[in-house]
Amino acid sequence: MVSHQTTDKLTKEIEDLRNSLGEKVSKKLDLDNCHQLIQRLGTLSSECETCYQSFNDLESHLVQLLDKPGQLTKNDFKHHHQKINNISTHLMKKHKLVTKDYYLSIYMSCGLSIGLVFGLLFDNLALGLPIGLGIGVTVGAILDADVKKKGRTI
Ligand SMILES: [Zn+2]
Repeated sequence: MVSHQTTDKLTKEIEDLRNSLGEKVSKKLDLDNCHQLIQRLGTLSSECETCYQSFNDLESHLVQLLDKPGQLTKNDFKHHHQKINNISTHLMKKHKLVTKDYYLSIYMSCGLSIGLVFGLLFDNLALGLPIGLGIGVTVGAILDADVKKKGRTI
């Protein structure tokens, strides 16, 4: 299991990384999301081997990034996002967690499609689309609020 000290240390490393890289690159690396993932992995590492390994993996990866601020290559970014994606996928599949605004994005596009269908059906896209979108956003926001309340957001 990952100790609290290790999680704290990693949190600190992310802060260092943010300071040395600046706001723009930090955003590009999605460091906020990274921080969330680390908290999650730290908690889950006691019961899940994959999470434990991902935590260590992410740690050495972040240390590597810290070692070469200002010289991050395209590959580093690619590598980084791949890691984040893999971890997010594992958390969603195995631990039934969802990313922030997960339902909103799904239902928004659903709502748009439904709105499009109705708009075409009644020959009034200007009316159909906003209604569909409105319903999608409402349903998505309700579901997102619900998973957040249950602590299932990554
Ligand atoms: Zn896991």
